[in-house]
Amino acid sequence: MASRSDTKSSTGRTSNPSNNRGAAEQSKTITLPDHITVRDLADTMSVSPIDLIKELMNAGIMANINQVLDHDTAAIVAEDMGYQIEEPEPEESEPLVEEMPIEAIRRREYSEEELKLLRERPPVVTILGHVDHGKTSLLDVIRATNVQAGEAGGITQHIGAYQIETNGRRITFLDTPGHEAFTAMRARGAQATDIAVLVVAADDGVQPQTREAIDHARAAQVPIIVAINKIDLPSANQDRVQQQLSDIGLVPEDWGGDTIMVPVSAKMKQNIDSLLDMILLVSDLAEFKANPQRTAEGIVIEGRLERSRGATATLLVQEGTLKVGDALVIGEIYGKIRAMSDHTGKNIRRATPSMPVVVLGLRDVPDAGDHFEVVADDRKARNIAEDRAAARDQQVTRHPSALSLEELYAQVQAGAVETLNLILKADVQGSIEPIRDSLERLEIGELRVKFIHEGVGNIAESDVNLAVASDAIVIGFNVNVEPSAERVADIEGVQIRTYNIIYRLIEDVQLAMTGMLEPEVREVVQGQAVVRQVFRVSRLGAVAGVQVTEGRALRNARVRVKRNNAVLHDGPVSSLKRFTEDVREVNTGYECGVGVANYDDFEEGDILEFYTEEVVQP
Ligand code: GDP
Repeated sequence: MASRSDTKSSTGRTSNPSNNRGAAEQSKTITLPDHITVRDLADTMSVSPIDLIKELMNAGIMANINQVLDHDTAAIVAEDMGYQIEEPEPEESEPLVEEMPIEAIRRREYSEEELKLLRERPPVVTILGHVDHGKTSLLDVIRATNVQAGEAGGITQHIGAYQIETNGRRITFLDTPGHEAFTAMRARGAQATDIAVLVVAADDGVQPQTREAIDHARAAQVPIIVAINKIDLPSANQDRVQQQLSDIGLVPEDWGGDTIMVPVSAKMKQNIDSLLDMILLVSDLAEFKANPQRTAEGIVIEGRLERSRGATATLLVQEGTLKVGDALVIGEIYGKIRAMSDHTGKNIRRATPSMPVVVLGLRDVPDAGDHFEVVADDRKARNIAEDRAAARDQQVTRHPSALSLEELYAQVQAGAVETLNLILKADVQGSIEPIRDSLERLEIGELRVKFIHEGVGNIAESDVNLAVASDAIVIGFNVNVEPSAERVADIEGVQIRTYNIIYRLIEDVQLAMTGMLEPEVREVVQGQAVVRQVFRVSRLGAVAGVQVTEGRALRNARVRVKRNNAVLHDGPVSSLKRFTEDVREVNTGYECGVGVANYDDFEEGDILEFYTEEVVQP
């Protein structure tokens, strides 16, 4: 997400809608970010984008509404239009109030001093794979054979994660399997997982969700270990699975590749130790480390409201050591750790990196994927949480500036985007290949198309989450968008575009890459009227005397003339009159005269449908 340019409009909005240079100075002062689109600048100055584009043209700059202007260009034009530019206030020097994306924390550059304090930490593992291939069975058998029962009398608790010990070393497993949860967390900016174990059933082979899981793990740049499960079945065919995986780029080590594949049986508890050994081997190569001596921070794995204990949460410590009595902030939630227990229910007082723990003492229930951090004391925790809540209240709600096809070119020009990341969903495998081939061949300057994921089926929520996590656009061919996917896309500002003609799809992407794509236009039906009488006016041709039956008739609209449900004509309104007076609109129930450009053949009983075209805001 760091690759996006900040195109949010500044907060120094003026309330003066006119371009009048004599207006009060106060209302004509604006602040500008480093980059701003023409649309946002017009918004900030409260002028119409058309006026701004004209002013830009006067200054010799040919810009469309989505064009990104740099600060200096924007400032010159704004000054020409009578605005004063205020330099932005320096950033507050309270770093904790600003929420830090977890990915930034994890790629933290440690200071020389801190480097000496880094210690090895257990790897955090997520299990991915197709439904029924044995993810849950594998998690259960690993837990059952490697976890000693805790104080709670041997009842294993599900807290969203557990830690095992093998050969004197520890491994943390997140126990919500599947890429949906994995990517939903990533979409929130949290990367909890170090290693993905991909489960493939030996009798069933690579299936759609296997491919999906691979793409999701790759997009997260997490190493993959394959567990070929169910090898106890007579129909198991390990060779076939290895062949299928090789075909999609996971080549086993024995075949000269670099993907570790371990045949296992969750049911017969066969070869589980080898799988754990391989996880440790990969983590030795990756050298996962953290500094246990600093104040703790990490990720919320899940939050719950319990009748007897109040708000509780499972936290995964990523840095530092978490202690009972620590003051915590999680977004706008704060608290002081009253008690802490591990995944066996045993009370503990300290939790080191990679340990999942349940904490008590939060004021509210946090969400999975939220970032937590320990601060000096309760008061500070509370202040930070309250500041964040206040900052949110003041914030103008606005979609994050996610990538859209219309804005692609501008973002490329602004240096914010280097590849066009796509997630492609299609009705059948047969349509994926030609689309992929054509799009991969497109190269406009340095810009290329990169497929984050492609698959058969409707556009689902996990596709949208993957798009959020990898700055991608979702493209559908002959598929529907699931309502939950639409909802998340709307909240996150992810663009979903669907097509049912291949060349249209390819053309749009190509146009977008060259900055030639026209903004998507949506039709909005404004009203309907029925023709009561037809007047012939020699100079103007025919005018329909109508009654508005629904919505409103608009002068600046287009009209479809319908007779017996057939559309006879489609064109712009040329005149709209109440009696003899020209009007802009006429509401339901009223009568008026309507002229339609280049059309004379009205008949009594015809239906006129008024509609406008609006640019879909990306
Ligand atoms: P998930 O959907 O991937 O979590 O799969 P489950 O763990 O629920 O397993 C699906 C089915 O496969 C269940 O009926 C399991 O009992 C069965 N199963 C899981 N692992 C094995 C195995 O190693 N061998 C055999 N024969 N069956 C297994």
